[in-house]
Amino acid sequence: MSEPLVIVGNGMAAARLVDELARSALGRYAVAVIGDEPRLAYNRVLLSAVLAGETASHDIELKPAGWWRDRGVTLKYGRVATEIDVGRRELKIENDESIEFSKLVLATGSSPLRLNVPGADLLGVNTFRDSRDVDLLLTLGSQRKRVVVVGGGLLGLEAAYGELCGFMIEQASGRPQAAE
Ligand SMILES: Cc1cc2nc3c(=O)[nH]c(=O)nc-3n(C[C@H](O)[C@H](O)[C@H](O)COP(=O)(O)OP(=O)(O)OC[C@H]3O[C@@H](n4cnc5c(N)ncnc54)[C@H](O)[C@@H]3O)c2cc1C
Repeated sequence: MSEPLVIVGNGMAAARLVDELARSALGRYAVAVIGDEPRLAYNRVLLSAVLAGETASHDIELKPAGWWRDRGVTLKYGRVATEIDVGRRELKIENDESIEFSKLVLATGSSPLRLNVPGADLLGVNTFRDSRDVDLLLTLGSQRKRVVVVGGGLLGLEAAYGELCGFMIEQASGRPQAAE
């Protein structure tokens, strides 16, 4: 019988691990992937291109739904893993569900640092880490709101470039702009 192997996180590491397991340990594990993002795993590196309007969001998926299905992977996405019960070898998932594991892999990536200053949690203060952030930033760009990017590293520059491109696409399309 296949051992239940549960992966928390449906990012790039999880997709690569499933790919490797399917090649080298086919049938040994019954794999389940639990991810809190509400979509199939995608290439996070390409979010900057999505923000800049150079790539469509659905084009950055790492594998189509059929790829996961063909490998017998149970996918639960849009679901947060909330607790690990090591004694019972059980992972708890939001909404009171739990799943048993023989092996558990945490592929949860990292989170963006939010500034520890008053106002950091206000509506309109966003991070740039996942596709939900990109959807929000695209909306702001299309509303022609003034955008301030905090952080001048590579991601900060890509975020600023993406917002600028969004603004230019809106202008070129001649669509009416919302008042600032
Ligand atoms: C815009 C952008 C551009 C980048 N460009 C580059 C680049 O050019 N080169 C480079 O090397 N790296 C780049 N990076 C970094 C790179 O994307 C990450 O190193 C990579 O995504 C890490 O993969 P991962 O699978 O470990 O984690 P992630 O891709 O972060 O995936 C982890 C997943 O786990 C989920 N998760 C976390 N906690 C839970 C939980 N409790 N329950 C369920 N799910 C959970 C997260 O929501 C996420 O979906 C970039 C990142 C961003 C945001």
